Amino acid sequence: MRPNKPAVWAMLALCAGSTRAATIAVDVGHYLAAPGATSAYGETEFGYNLALAKVVAQRLRADGHIVLLIGASGDMDNLKARPAMADGVDLFISIHHDSVQERYLSTWTVAGKTQRYSDISHGYSVFVSKDNPYYAESLGCAEAVGKAMKRAGFAPNLHHVINEAGEGYVVLDPDLAVYQSSLIVVKYATVPALLLEAGVIINRDEALTIKQPATRLRIADAVASAMRCLKP
Ligand SMILES: [Zn+2]
Repeated sequence: MRPNKPAVWAMLALCAGSTRAATIAVDVGHYLAAPGATSAYGETEFGYNLALAKVVAQRLRADGHIVLLIGASGDMDNLKARPAMADGVDLFISIHHDSVQERYLSTWTVAGKTQRYSDISHGYSVFVSKDNPYYAESLGCAEAVGKAMKRAGFAPNLHHVINEAGEGYVVLDPDLAVYQSSLIVVKYATVPALLLEAGVIINRDEALTIKQPATRLRIADAVASAMRCLKP
């Protein structure tokens, strides 16, 4: 248990009846008015993030963890408020779905509407910030999530390794698609933090497979199994 954990979290953890229960913030990336990426079928990333975050939260609660779901109402427009809400938890996990740079996009027609897509990349990636005060712990959990996702059959997305203009990420573990970044939510978290890009929704196949209930459960299982990264 972290020494700076507020009393309320300690109480909740005790109520969970397990000394191994952790307090975990699950952050729904983006919000309704600025919903992030758009899928190859015109759906918003926020919708994907919310659906997956709910499944992940439910799965973690089933393991006895105390889960704080952040941004589920879709009106959280202040990025720095997200990690601030998670002050004192054991781990902050931000849930996202990925896209690619503009120059890779092509167009196609879906249900009579022009949509943009790119099949150049697919798979998951995990991001941590060296500016986070718990960088080592963040990296440990990011590697655990990357390993668990790979073991569950998901592909590490190495597209960010290309590191072209607009990417700006440094790969820390190419086998597991773990990257260093200065993304706000992981940088400003006062607790160990990681951001999971669960899949690439601008990819025409992955936009469909990643939203299958069975796929979301597999991702949630992988995240839950990785929570062994948290020391009791
Ligand atoms: Zn996003």
